[in-house]
Amino acid sequence: MKIHEFQAKQLLRDAGVAVPRSVVATTPAEASAAFDELGGKLAVVKAQIHAGGRGKGTIREKPSQHGVQLVKSAKEAGGVAENLLGGSLVTLQTGPAGQTVRRVLVEAGCDIARELYLGIVVDRSAAGPVLMVSSQGGMNIEDVAAETPELIFREPFDPDAGLHSYQARKLAARLDLKGKSVRSAEKIMQGLCRVFVKLDCSLMEVNPLVVTGDGELLALDAKMSFDDNALFRHKNLAELRDEAEEEAAEVRAAAAGLSYVKLDGNIGCLVNGAGLAMSTMDLIKLHGGEPANFLDVGGGANVEQVTEAFRILLDDKNVRAVLVNIFGGIMRCTTIASAIVEAYKSVGFNVPLVVRLEGTEVEEGMKILASAKLDIIAADGLTDAAKKVVAAIK
Ligand code: ADP
Ligand code: MG
Repeated sequence: MKIHEFQAKQLLRDAGVAVPRSVVATTPAEASAAFDELGGKLAVVKAQIHAGGRGKGTIREKPSQHGVQLVKSAKEAGGVAENLLGGSLVTLQTGPAGQTVRRVLVEAGCDIARELYLGIVVDRSAAGPVLMVSSQGGMNIEDVAAETPELIFREPFDPDAGLHSYQARKLAARLDLKGKSVRSAEKIMQGLCRVFVKLDCSLMEVNPLVVTGDGELLALDAKMSFDDNALFRHKNLAELRDEAEEEAAEVRAAAAGLSYVKLDGNIGCLVNGAGLAMSTMDLIKLHGGEPANFLDVGGGANVEQVTEAFRILLDDKNVRAVLVNIFGGIMRCTTIASAIVEAYKSVGFNVPLVVRLEGTEVEEGMKILASAKLDIIAADGLTDAAKKVVAAIK
């Protein structure tokens, strides 16, 4: 689960991590008032969407307006908010349609001496969290990783003990920090590592982590994602979810207990088991097709869930054919067959449907399909199914 910058900064502030003062605004008038409330000569108005790259991104309806802008008066803050609110912000991470801006963060302008990068992820090979820092902050870290990987410094840390002081000081030296900046770096690095573990984050990114004119370190941007499987022990975090920022079909699928990820292709896939779903997508690609989604209905799905899964697939305007690939283990083929018949009646299939069933109660399942006299392309095996569905859209 992702959250907004303003929410992440509040969590950091609560944990004693240094972030600039800021006020959230949902109207231009609130943004103007926020400028006055902050009381400085400079402020920054920042669009709040779940994607990064806002500073370079632009508003689709007003391409001269970037997603992050420095302002020098309450009036200017209101004007920028006016441009941003309700607009679609297009960044490298949003796709061409952009994402609607519903709030802005008005933040105290910061006197930036240096922009550093800090990220924390779970490193599977180290079987634990790893802190990464770079002197190349503010930039696209993927480019730094590709072109000058030697400028990224990594420090795995123990989740229970946290980041040790010597580790923080070592990284501070690599970043060429001096004097009081070293102490400030130690404090902020240890604080961020503590928050990462305590809140079961899957990602924390502070880009830029700035060194101010008087040598203090401050988190100027904050991106945080949480491990969905740990949300049950953080009820307060679940409240931060903003479904408006998420793919509507994915929200709907999650509500039905389905694992669904929308993709860009045109072949809808309904599969049970994540491994089978992955190999189904691989085979579709191998035979020249493009999957429209990943969908795992799980082992114990019932007719209602499977019917909802079909509805979600068929609501996707890109979908031109559907492939059902079921290996009945815990899931019975009869359940899937009944759901196909049910979906046919209630949703209506306007695209070709290829079905491959195997496993528990396969004969009975095939009988249900045959007696319903639906227009189905039956497939025998995975490769045959993939070939048939690719051929169906040609
Ligand atoms: P994004 O990563 O989505 O582009 P950031 O929050 O990193 O958004 O902001 C982009 C740039 O804007 C930063 O690299 C920094 O140079 C500048 N900036 C952001 N917040 C402030 C602030 N409070 N004061 C001064 N400059 C800022
Ligand atoms: Mg940033």
